[in-house]
Amino acid sequence: MKVTEEEIRPEKVFNEYLALANQDVLDFFGNTERKEIDCPVCGIRGVDWANKSGFNYQICHKCLSIYVSPRPPKEAFDAYYTDSPSTRYWATTFYKVTETARREKLWKPKAQLIKDRILSLDQKDPIEYIIDIGGGYGVFDEEITAIMDIAPIVIEPSVHLQEVCRGKGLKVIGKFMEDIEPGELPSGRKCFVSFELFEHLYDPALFLKTVLDCMNARDIFIFTTLSGIGLDIQVLGEHAKALSPPHHLNFLNPKSVSTLLTKIGFEVLDASTPGKLDVDILKNNRQYIKDEFWKNVIAYSNESELGSIQQFIAGSGLSSHMMITCRKPAI
Ligand SMILES: [Zn+2]
Repeated sequence: MKVTEEEIRPEKVFNEYLALANQDVLDFFGNTERKEIDCPVCGIRGVDWANKSGFNYQICHKCLSIYVSPRPPKEAFDAYYTDSPSTRYWATTFYKVTETARREKLWKPKAQLIKDRILSLDQKDPIEYIIDIGGGYGVFDEEITAIMDIAPIVIEPSVHLQEVCRGKGLKVIGKFMEDIEPGELPSGRKCFVSFELFEHLYDPALFLKTVLDCMNARDIFIFTTLSGIGLDIQVLGEHAKALSPPHHLNFLNPKSVSTLLTKIGFEVLDASTPGKLDVDILKNNRQYIKDEFWKNVIAYSNESELGSIQQFIAGSGLSSHMMITCRKPAI
């Protein structure tokens, strides 16, 4: 099924959201004191890579992760995600008008993908709970329970999104993952999921430690996020839409995220980039491409050739959309 940008991100409503988000950047982050941080994977200082909307991105030359530094304090992000005009608009207006299209084109396929992945890992000892970290509107949870015998629990800090999930009869824990105590979750077998959340995290290592602490041996964690080595991000740099502060703070890559997960104690089962959109994004933003090779390749290639390039990029772990499957090792 072809997904069009207008269906999942209608221009008029999205522009209104962006206008509110721009104002929120000033209100929540404008006067905050920012601190230089080290690479979230290697702990070494990076070098400047791009600047956007007053936020500076650095790249680590050891692992090539890209991240916002200097960074405003965590409290500013917490306040922003808990209750701000743009997150309220996202929950009440933006998401509502796009929910049907998103459900059909994004969430149903995603629920099927996660179900297949869970079953491919473990058939004899079934997963009982799906813990959806940053579950937003809860559509994934509705869809996975429609095709799988599994109980969802949504972890969601936004007061507006919590309300939406509770209205759907979903079980919600209204907190940030980092504030969850191990005893707050049921003790049965669990699969944690988070979609497009990792790039927002203030402290990725702390987040992963909390998830690991809430897991029993052999529980699974599957998440999707953006990869900084991904084609469109590398080629478009500051013009990449993916670079959108204050939302996107971390762009690890399949290798660096695996290093971090292993360091924290996870067993990484798969780190791949099934992304489909990189070449399309380059095509739609060709005026920003400085690199001669990519500028000319995009102009020179026909649709079928561009399709092969996208396949090669995704298969080589070089798309900007990545998916990680890991678990807590058996002792
Ligand atoms: Zn690094």
